[in-house]
Amino acid sequence: MTDSCIFCKIVSSEAKADIVYRDEQVTAFRDIHPVAPTHILIVPNRHIESVSTLEVESEPLVGHLFTVASQLAKEEGISKGGYRLITNTGVDGGQTVLHLHLHLIGGRRMRYTMG
Ligand code: 5GP
Ligand code: ZN
Repeated sequence: MTDSCIFCKIVSSEAKADIVYRDEQVTAFRDIHPVAPTHILIVPNRHIESVSTLEVESEPLVGHLFTVASQLAKEEGISKGGYRLITNTGVDGGQTVLHLHLHLIGGRRMRYTMG
């Protein structure tokens, strides 16, 4: 838990969020500024800053983030049509919250963009 981290506060229920899934490793909640009909953030319950600070011990956890994303996409009804998973990393990557997260975005056709 990092005192100033908004996602740590959401994980611990100190801050409110529209939580759609929670287990002992990860929490998923709707983005406060959705860019598509489905926009869910999937975060590890323990504070990891970004992909840049990942350690090899976290490999099962990272795999779990993707498995939960896949399951939530099914529940949201976007699995067949497709969706986008994004992990912004660092300043140049556009990361604004320094707690590792996967954006699950779908429900509309994405534009092709690499930045
Ligand atoms: P990043 O820019 O770091 O990849 O994504 C951070 C995301 O977190 C943004 O899409 C932003 O809208 C979302 N966000 C920031 N603060 C909050 C919050 O307090 N609650 C929720 N639900 N989403 C947040
Ligand atoms: Zn955090």
